[in-house]
Amino acid sequence: MKKYSEVNELIEVRCNQCGRMLKVENGVLKEGAFCTEVAFGYFSTKDGQKHEIDLCEDCYDRWVKGFKLPVRVWEQTEFL
Ligand SMILES: [Zn+2]
Repeated sequence: MKKYSEVNELIEVRCNQCGRMLKVENGVLKEGAFCTEVAFGYFSTKDGQKHEIDLCEDCYDRWVKGFKLPVRVWEQTEFL
């Protein structure tokens, strides 16, 4: 869960799973995290809704360990 200042600077990120405050400095998230949003479409039961999830790296690791199929992993060749 992210919070932004009045000038739209990132000021807080909390893990949705454990509630821990993640490290943010000068508007930049400074630790590994799973941050994503999804827009549900017509064929879902949440048509028109957008959901955002932020997970700390520990909660992400616990979550994906429960998957029946592994996460696809590859090396990044370009960093943003
Ligand atoms: Zn967490």
